[in-house]
Parts: sequence; structure tokens; C-alpha cells
Amino acid sequence: MASATNQDSKPSSSGKRVAVVGAGVSGLAAAYKLKSHGLTVTVFEAEARAGGRLRSVSHGGLIWDEGANTMTETEVEVQSLLDDLGLREKQQFPISQHKRYIVRNGEAVLIPTNPIALIKSNILSAKSKLQLILEPFLWRKSESSRVSDAYTGESVGEFFQRHFGKEVVDYLIDPFVAGTFAADPESLSARHSFPELWNLEKQFGSIIAGAIKTKLSAKREKSKETDGTSGKKNRRGSFSFLGGMQTLTDTLCKEIGKDELKLGSKVLSLSYDDNWLVSYASKGDKHAQGSSYDAVIMTAPLCNVKEMAIKKSRNIFPLDFLPEVNYTPLSVIITTFKKENVKRPLEGFGVLVPSKEQQNGLKTLGTLFSSMMFPDRAPDDLYLYTTFVGGSRNKELAKASTSFTLLNGSHFFWSKGFPLYGRNYDVVVEAIEKLEKRLPGFFYAGNHKGGLSVGKSISSGCKAADRVISYLESSSDDMLKEEP
Ligand SMILES: Cc1cc2nc3c(=O)[nH]c(=O)nc-3n(C[C@H](O)[C@H](O)[C@H](O)COP(=O)(O)OP(=O)(O)OC[C@H]3O[C@@H](n4cnc5c(N)ncnc54)[C@H](O)[C@@H]3O)c2cc1C
Repeated sequence: MASATNQDSKPSSSGKRVAVVGAGVSGLAAAYKLKSHGLTVTVFEAEARAGGRLRSVSHGGLIWDEGANTMTETEVEVQSLLDDLGLREKQQFPISQHKRYIVRNGEAVLIPTNPIALIKSNILSAKSKLQLILEPFLWRKSESSRVSDAYTGESVGEFFQRHFGKEVVDYLIDPFVAGTFAADPESLSARHSFPELWNLEKQFGSIIAGAIKTKLSAKREKSKETDGTSGKKNRRGSFSFLGGMQTLTDTLCKEIGKDELKLGSKVLSLSYDDNWLVSYASKGDKHAQGSSYDAVIMTAPLCNVKEMAIKKSRNIFPLDFLPEVNYTPLSVIITTFKKENVKRPLEGFGVLVPSKEQQNGLKTLGTLFSSMMFPDRAPDDLYLYTTFVGGSRNKELAKASTSFTLLNGSHFFWSKGFPLYGRNYDVVVEAIEKLEKRLPGFFYAGNHKGGLSVGKSISSGCKAADRVISYLESSSDDMLKEEP
């Protein structure tokens, strides 16, 4: 395992102090990176536990996740982090992860995994299949093609409907965004929710042609880099860890160190005057305490930042330009069933439910086949399932109570599960930029910016740590220049 402090040559920022607000995965990844660089770091977490939206429970022979269930490692920062933390041996890939289902007419139907299987399947009508085949020709990039710029504020639903038609939105996009954003296609911004696809359209016109060309050129680059000799594993699949997703944040906490992690410490105010004074209240202690730092990484959700008091050069720094962010509420319901009582157990990852299927009585967003994916998550005679309810589709239902006992199930309610990347999310991104620009040594990271997934949150935390390092190094260099 990598040492978080071992450095051969000390950088000029060495010994400087950085406060990280929030011990979710983005804050912990940032803190780990800073500590590895030789900086002194303190992580403040309002809750009594670290991990934020990574939350694993082990009870009665069952292991389940009440927050994120799996992640991917598309981002380079995630790959390096897993290597550095020595977590490869604990990585757990689900059995049959490519077997995923959607509900159509009340029945679970296997989602085709490649274009030929999609065309052969009866998941879409002949008209939609034809539209898919024609997309590369209809959206060929030409001077006259009307792409992207005109559609900056477009919703995910509108974006995909333009390319593939309404049925694809209803039966493929809608359940996918319900499962990954807990939102519906009409309330999400295409540009902020699918930046890669939005850029493909900008560059190539057609999403399908763009995706194929990008994949081919990435493959060519890779084989050039490795001279065709590497048998490197495909790192695009979903995975978890032995013990659940919280193994990742627990490992980060261990590396960061107990003394550097202040749990149950809610940051109340921040004041900048040459350096940062961070005031926080510990649980059970009415008096706020404070310590000073050279820089701050803020990873608390913006709704929490809005509650903080910020001062710059002893003057109040008003936060009224921070817009209200909408959040989607979400309930996570854990259930177990005796195997003998499950008539048709489906093997695979899980099933997603399109909104249209609500008319067939299905009100959930989807269910993960948790013990099918990871057999060690339940005793041999039980199936364990994780079901998601609510999101922007069914806000009231997310709040409904259940009467489970831990013997046959459990229920966890997230009142603010995901920030909603709505159609006007530009204003949120601009406000974060303004915050960082106006406050020296203040950097924002986490899932409000650049993506909602665990991987994107880690990447955002690591990038914020890099920005802090260059900020501190450039301010140290400036001071050295000023010295006689
Ligand atoms: C139910 C659910 C399922 C999900 N499933 C997946 C999935 O399968 N795959 C995937 O990739 N992503 C998934 N996600 C998304 C992913 O988990 C999150 O986007 C990611 O974990 C966010 O990490 P973060 O560090 O940005 O924020 P958080 O985890 O929210 O961390 C922010 C931390 O800041 C703390 N804080 C707030 N205010 C203060 C304050 N004043 N002082 C100190 N601390 C404060 C909070 O207590 C919190 O711990 C899921 C999310 C949810 C809710």
C-alpha cells in the first residue's frame, strides 16, 4: 500500500495546511492526494461517519449498500487511486454484469448489449430500429447541419428524441436516467448530464458515428502506446468491493489518519484574511472552534454551503448569488426472499422500470439483484435485492414510510439524493466558478460539478487537490521572490 506521506524531494508547498470540508468520496480522495503530496490536511465532516453517499451495512450475514452500489473506473484518477490504495484485490466484479433488464408490458426483458442484438430484439418497433440505423446518415456533420449551439438548453429527452425518436427515449433513455440520475429525461440538461455525447454531436453530428470513430481512434492510440503487446484488462465495467462500496472510503480514511479526520464537526463559517479561518461545531459542544489553513477544498453540497457564513478581509462575503439547487429524494429499500419462494429468479445486474410502466402498476425506478451480482452478500438460502423508489418521477413516494424490520428488509431515505442537473444548470456551474474566482485559495469539488457518479466525484476531488497544490506552490514561490 502506498504511503500517503513518503516524498523524496519536498515540494515548496510542503507543511502547508489545507482544510477539506466533507468526508464523502470526493473530499477523502482530495485529502488523500494532498497528504500524499506532503501537505497537512484536516477533513471536517458534519456527520458522525465518513463516506457521505457511500454507505455499506453488514447485518445478519447480509451486506448491502444504501448509497452507491457500484462504480466504474473510466476516469484516470480512479485507476491511480485504486492502485495506490492497494484496493485491486478487494475489487468485486458482478457476475453477469452485462445481463441487465428493462420492463416492457409488465415483463422483464433483457437489454441487448450490441447493435446487432438490438436490431434483432423486439425491445423496439421496426420504425425505431430504422431510425437508429439511419441516424449516422441523417445527422452527418455538414456546414448546414443544425447541431448543438442551437440546443444549449435542451433536455435529455429532447436531445435523444432528435436523434433516435420517442420510443428510444421512453424505453431506453428514461429508465437509464432514472437509474443513474434518479431523474426523468425532461427535467435533465443534455449538456450537463451527457457532456461526452453532447460533444460528440458537436464534433461529428451523428452520435453513433461519433461514438464509433472515437472508440476506433482510442483503440489505435492505445495500441500505439503499448506497441500492441499489452494485455491490459478492459476497465470499463461496473464493480464494488469486498464488504461493499464503503470499503473504498474506509480505506481512504485509514490512509488519511484518525487525527486528520474530524467527524461530527459541522463547518459553520469560513473567514479569509491572508489565510483561512475555519470555524466548526462539534456534536455536543455548543461553542464553535476554529483553526487556520492556507487553502480550503469545499465538497459539501451547495445547499449546505449556502448556510455557511463566509467573510473576506473581515467583510461579509454574501452568498446570495448561489442559486437554489434542486435535489431528487430517493428511498433505497433492501429486501430478502427465501430462494424457494422466488419462482423465476433472474440472473444478472438488475432491472430498470420505464416511467411508462407506471401504468402497469410498477412505481419503482429499478431493482438491483444484489446477491446475484455478489453471492457473498447473502446467506445461501436467500436472495438480496436493492430497490430504488422516488427520484424526480415520484417525489412523494420516496418519502413514504415502510414498516420493515432488519429481519426481512431495511429502508434508507435520502431527502437530497442527487443534485438535479436541470436545464438551467449553467447558473449553478457559473456560481461555483464565481465562488472560486472571488475567494483566494478556495476550491470546490464533488458531485455538483462535472458529473454525479462516484468516479466523477473522485476525479473532481483529485483535480481540486491538484489546483490547491499549484496554488500553494505559486504562492510559496512568490513569497520566496519577495524575500530580500
Ligand atoms: C442512493 C444513491 C445511489 C447512488 N448510486 C450510485 C452508483 O451506483 N454509482 C455511482 O457512480 N454513483 C452513485 N450515486 C452517486 C454517488 O454516490 C455520489 O454522487 C457521490 O458519492 C458524491 O460524493 P461527494 O463526495 O461529492 O458528496 P457526498 O457523499 O454527499 O459528501 C459530502 C459530505 O459533506 C458533508 N457536509 C455537508 N455539509 C457540511 C458541513 N457544513 N460541514 C462539514 N461537512 C459537511 C456531508 O455530510 C457529506 O458527508 C448514488 C447516490 C445515491 C444517493
